[in-house]
Amino acid sequence: MSTGVPLTIHDASGMLARQEISSLELTEVCLDRIQQCDDRVRSFITVTPELARQQAGEADRRIAAGSARPLTGVPMQVKDLICTRGVATTCASRMLEDFVPVYNATVAERLLGQGAVLLGKGNMDEFGMGSSCENSAFFPTRNPWDLERVPGGSSGGGAAAVAAGEAVYAIGSDTGGSIRQPSAMCGTVGLKPTYGLVSRYGLIAYASSLDQVGPITRDVADSALVLNAIAGPDPRDSTCLDIPAIDYAAGLALESSTPLGRGGTSGAVRLGVPEEYFTDGMEPGVREALESAIDTLAGLGADVETVSLPTTRLALACYYIIAPSECSANLARYDGVKYGYSFQDTDNMWEAMEQTRGRGFGPEVKRRIMLGAYALSAGYYDAYYLKAQQVRTLIRQEFDQVFQKVDALVTPTSPVVAFPLGSKTADPVEMYLIDVCTLPVNIAGLPAISVPCGFSQGLPVGMQLIGPHLSEQRLLRIAYAYEQATEWHEARPDL
Ligand code: GLN
Repeated sequence: MSTGVPLTIHDASGMLARQEISSLELTEVCLDRIQQCDDRVRSFITVTPELARQQAGEADRRIAAGSARPLTGVPMQVKDLICTRGVATTCASRMLEDFVPVYNATVAERLLGQGAVLLGKGNMDEFGMGSSCENSAFFPTRNPWDLERVPGGSSGGGAAAVAAGEAVYAIGSDTGGSIRQPSAMCGTVGLKPTYGLVSRYGLIAYASSLDQVGPITRDVADSALVLNAIAGPDPRDSTCLDIPAIDYAAGLALESSTPLGRGGTSGAVRLGVPEEYFTDGMEPGVREALESAIDTLAGLGADVETVSLPTTRLALACYYIIAPSECSANLARYDGVKYGYSFQDTDNMWEAMEQTRGRGFGPEVKRRIMLGAYALSAGYYDAYYLKAQQVRTLIRQEFDQVFQKVDALVTPTSPVVAFPLGSKTADPVEMYLIDVCTLPVNIAGLPAISVPCGFSQGLPVGMQLIGPHLSEQRLLRIAYAYEQATEWHEARPDL
């Protein structure tokens, strides 16, 4: 990829359309790159070279026949909790190590339907539970910017693969930050859509009221292209919103040099900077990068004001009741009877179940199941689960109120840059705190995007833009305007 091969979807699809490169050639470049660096980065759990070549061949025929779509022939990685027919889908868990789905998730179906090329499946924290990719049952992924550091999580494999140039884009999932936070730590663009915009049929559930699928890309235009492909109603997911399709990519064109200013049809973009997101735990380098990014946004014409979201301080506690509660219910199905790992060395049913779950799940997953089962148990339900749901309503209402005043919020995505492997594994709460800026967004079901906004200690820093429900188009426009005015997204790790 360092030899000038296209790195973004829009570049690649342009070259494919002009027949300057074939999908097969582009796929080989990615497979070579995986060969060259994935023994160090380890972003893939499974690589599917034969399938990729076959899909690339089909894409080339489609391009030649003039029926290409924007993603036709472009190679991607898919997180290993999204079902792909005939390709192992492990959730980075011993429990599903041998699970090969017989169907595609709707997201996979839509992408493959456009002629996308599947390079393989991305590493992650087991079942999506973690912030560093170190909870994978198989191996941790490393950050392409510094191999001694984590890529973030849980979609760490996706962000690392895109940053390393192994895949042109990746599909992740985000329950409390898992697309945005690794994107911030690896210098990629990560979009968590509004809850219900993208189908979750075939996404192996972690916390169903929070999970969303979304793209990890090199730039904002690519994020819009992938969202175009995956968004939209799905009769197989009842939480999926029935709303008309929007062309997110077409909405990006900028009219002037101050694209966020008053010249536009709807006046200047109003941006709120919530003071609670700029807290003590924030690294000075992250703060500096954010302050300078906010100046850039103001320079582009946006009206910037400080706002306050006081219930933010409750979001972490609220999330760590709701997410484990839902996880304990969702993961009850792994009992060794229907599918997944099954302990066979006993005639006793209870022992079989206990051993299956005891051996099949890793320590963090077990911790979450126990926390959730406790919070949901008779006698504690009101004190924990019900209380958390009440706090959830307050957090939602507070966002609704602030969005009467501003169009979007600007915050850091993560208060810290990528940290050394092993440095936060001893204390679960320290790990949970990495997601303080991203969790509130899932609690309220809002869309948010993380874009690269600078470096600190030589490592990427991400800026998060949060908007009201279904404001993806506006968020992408603001992010695009910012990206056009800066060069952070062009920086590449030396690998
Ligand atoms: N780190 C958070 C958790 O462990 C969020 C993970 C995610 O978004 N899947 O729950």
